[in-house]
Amino acid sequence: MRFVHDTLPQRVCFGSGAAAANLSAEIKNLGAMNVMLIAAKEEAALAETVAAGIPVAVRHDDVVMHVPVDVAERAREVAAESEADVLVSVGGGSTTGLAKAIALTTGLPIVAVPTTYAGSEATPVWGLTEGAKKTTGIDLRVLPKVIVYDAALTISLPVGMSVASGLNALAHCVDSMWAPNANPINTAFAVEGIRSLQTGLPKVVADPEDLEGREHALYAAYLSAASFASAGSGLHHKICHVLGGKYNLPHAQTHATVLPYVLAFNAPAASEAEKRIATAFGTWTAIDGLVALKEELNAPHALADYGFTEDAIPEAADAILPSVPPSNPRPVTAGDLRTLLRAAWAGTDPRTAF
Ligand code: NAD
Repeated sequence: MRFVHDTLPQRVCFGSGAAAANLSAEIKNLGAMNVMLIAAKEEAALAETVAAGIPVAVRHDDVVMHVPVDVAERAREVAAESEADVLVSVGGGSTTGLAKAIALTTGLPIVAVPTTYAGSEATPVWGLTEGAKKTTGIDLRVLPKVIVYDAALTISLPVGMSVASGLNALAHCVDSMWAPNANPINTAFAVEGIRSLQTGLPKVVADPEDLEGREHALYAAYLSAASFASAGSGLHHKICHVLGGKYNLPHAQTHATVLPYVLAFNAPAASEAEKRIATAFGTWTAIDGLVALKEELNAPHALADYGFTEDAIPEAADAILPSVPPSNPRPVTAGDLRTLLRAAWAGTDPRTAF
């Protein structure tokens, strides 16, 4: 065996109903006195429930998905004016993403309190959008110092968004199997992440207030992101990155929709990964496991439902092609990408797409 694995320096506090106490203790540990509390308007009330015991200097709710550069600039100004010494983000990937944009230029530490299963809190990846172009980068300054996970904070996440977000986590797991730095350690995380999502997400759909289901999903969100952070972006992430940035498609739903097609495309050329994914699902093949789970969850299934149009397929395929990782187990042509995108646009059965 030969591999390089990045274990990232980060503290993880996990406990349902314990976010306020954990957050207060962690802010004290950091010796911070001036908290910039970042939460979107929709999550402002949720943020107040966990922020009661911390010294909030300023609240900031100007959060926009994919972090437009002007939104990042305004937030950096607020951080400077308030002399913040720590950033506390309470929200989904968009909110964590804004905290990362501030940390990127200021070096301020982040304590992340995630309320979706996007997993951004466990990666050193930042993203900024200018016009229709999304730029991402890797910088350890944006990796939150501490994550405070509390599944009770995700109970209010609507079922449809919970499913899409959970499948975003599943995409981190699956794509990490063939990403440029795939290795046995992140594969172990990914396999446990898939198992935990398969256990948790059906419980969330059956009863959105089922805390045990939410805990499984949130635990998996961390595993999936830790796996992705070390493995890097595989074919799936490269495709979704272009679709999200160029066509402003919703992040989680795009991942949830595209994943089966990438799995169906790559699986014949990635037998070891295919076996590991199938074993995690407990099914004969990986794609059968994913299709069955998506059906059970009534998950997003066609890009057409999210504003992607058929006439954009050739242009999107051409935009994706240069970023296809050379490590992908199967060579990828523009024609393959057009086939994949057409199937994902229409939502046809991924098992017959190629
Ligand atoms: P999001 O943060 O935009 O949240 C989606 C919706 O859910 C929003 O309307 C939000 O207000 C609402 N919401 C969030 N938590 C809620 C809760 N507990 N109860 C009720 N409503 C709630 O979406 P997301 O999918 O979490 O994040 C997407 C963004 O994160 C994208 O910009 C994506 O690029 C980024 N991301 C980055 C990484 C990374 O490693 N850098 C990883 C994953 C996602």
